[in-house]
Amino acid sequence: MKVTNSSIRIILPDQLGPHFVDDASQKTVLVVPMDETFARKMHIMKAVWWMSAILNRVDQSKEPIELIFCDSLEAFLKDFKEPAEVIGPTSYKQRKAFIGQANIKRLPSRGFVTSEMEFANWVSSRPGKKLRLEDFYRFARVKHKVLVDPNDLPIGGSWNFDDQNRLPPPKSQRLPLEPLREFSWNETDESALKKIRQFQKKGLNYIGNFSKEKYFATDRKEALAALENFIKHRLELFGPFEDASLKSDWAMSHSLLSAPMNIGLLSPQEAINAAEAALKNGARINSVEGFVRQILGWRDYVWHLYWHFGENYQKDSNHFQAQNPLPNWMADLNPSELKANCLRHVMTDLQTRGWLHHIQRLMILGNWSLQHEINPQELVDWFDRAFLDGHPWVMAANVIGMSQFADGGRMSTKPYASGGAYIKKMSDFCQGCDYAPETRIGEKACPFTAGYWKFIHRNQDEFRKNPRISQAVYGLSRLKDLEALLKEESNQK
Ligand code: SF4
Repeated sequence: MKVTNSSIRIILPDQLGPHFVDDASQKTVLVVPMDETFARKMHIMKAVWWMSAILNRVDQSKEPIELIFCDSLEAFLKDFKEPAEVIGPTSYKQRKAFIGQANIKRLPSRGFVTSEMEFANWVSSRPGKKLRLEDFYRFARVKHKVLVDPNDLPIGGSWNFDDQNRLPPPKSQRLPLEPLREFSWNETDESALKKIRQFQKKGLNYIGNFSKEKYFATDRKEALAALENFIKHRLELFGPFEDASLKSDWAMSHSLLSAPMNIGLLSPQEAINAAEAALKNGARINSVEGFVRQILGWRDYVWHLYWHFGENYQKDSNHFQAQNPLPNWMADLNPSELKANCLRHVMTDLQTRGWLHHIQRLMILGNWSLQHEINPQELVDWFDRAFLDGHPWVMAANVIGMSQFADGGRMSTKPYASGGAYIKKMSDFCQGCDYAPETRIGEKACPFTAGYWKFIHRNQDEFRKNPRISQAVYGLSRLKDLEALLKEESNQK
C-alpha cells in the first residue's frame, strides 16, 4: 500500500459511522480482519448485512476510503509502518494487535456515552462496593444530564419504571399497531451477497437461513430512518411490553437498533436525544426511560464491564463447572427437531433473521443452557456469531455474567433461571405446546419446569446461602414428586 499522508485514520468494521472520522480530508483506511469477521462461522444474515454496511461506508463517503481485507489485524499491521491513529478498538484481540505499534496513536473509544475514564473514576469513587447496574445507570443519568431535572432528580419522579415495563403480552392485539420498517434490498446488498457467496465457495461456512428480507439498517441513512420509525411508531408500546413475546410478532416493539449501533452506524447519544425529544412531545415516561436504560445503562455497562473484569473473565469463568457442548440444534441453528414450542419458535426466528429480543435470549435460550450445563465459553462464542448485534464486548458480560452466572455473582446477584410458568406468563408460546408448563414429570413435563427444579436441587447448598434465591430451595421440600423428577430423564427440548 502506498501512503503519503502523515496521519492515516484506521477505522475498523464496527466503526462505520461519521463519528469515527474527524477530518474528512484525512486519508482513511477501513481494515477488515477476516479472522474476527467473515472467516467466523457466523449467521449468514449477519455476514451479508455487515458486508453491505462496510461496502456502503466506502461507496457513500465523499472522500475516498481505502478498503483492505486482511487475514488478521496482526498480519495487516506487520508491514504497516506509516504514522496513523485508531479509535479505541473494541476487543482485547484487536487492542493487543496494536500494542508495540509506535507509529499508531490510539485515541479514546467512541460509540458509548460514558467514557472509560469516567467509568474508572466512578468505580474508584465507591471502594469496596459491588458494582451494580442501577448505581451506574443513575450515575450516568446525572453525569450526562439525561432525563434529570435541574436538581439532578429523575424526570417523572422515579429512576426506573420497571414495574410498568414487565407486562405480559396483550391478548387481543398484535404489537405494534404500525408495521415494522423494512428497507429495500439494493445494489450494495447484492454486491455484499456476492462477496459472501465467494467466501463460501472458498470454503468459509455460515449458519442460519438467508433471505432478502431487510429489517436492519446497513447505512447511516437507514439507521436514522430506523430510529425515526421507532420513535414515531414503536416507542409508545416498547416500555410496557419490552419483556413480552408473541408467536405472531418477532420484533414486538423493539427498535432493532442494537445491530447498527454496534457497528457504529448510529451513536447512542443520538438515540437518547431522540427519546428525550419524544418525551417532550408527549411520549410516555416508562417507555422513554426503559429505552434510555437499555442504551445509557445496560449497553454502556456491559461495555465497561468487558474491560473492567479483564481478559480472563470470559475465558476462566465457569462457576457451575458446566461442560456440556452446545447441542446441534443450537450450533447449526436447526430447530426442525425441537418439540418445545418456545424453543422451536425462538430458534426459528433466530435461524431466519439472526436476532431475538433480550428476554427471548435470556428466558428461553440462556435459561435452557443454564439448566442443561452448557459450557459458558462455547455459549458466549455462539451468541457472538449467531446474533447480528453480537461482538465480544457485548456477549461477555451478557452471557457469562447475566445469563449463565458463570462468574459466580460478580455481575448479578442470582442466576437467571425460571420454569415454564414464567414463559407462560410472558408469552403465548405455551398455547398448543406438547408440554404443559405446570407439569414436572411424565410425558407432558415441561423441560423448563423440570430443568429449573433440577438446577435448584443440584445447587441447593450454594443457593440456600443466597437470600435472592433461597426461597426456591425451600420450595424443593414442597415438591411431592421430587424423587421421581430427579430420577426422570426429562425431555430436554
Ligand atoms: Fe416452553 Fe414449557 Fe411452555 Fe412448552 S410448556 S412452550 S416447553 S415453557
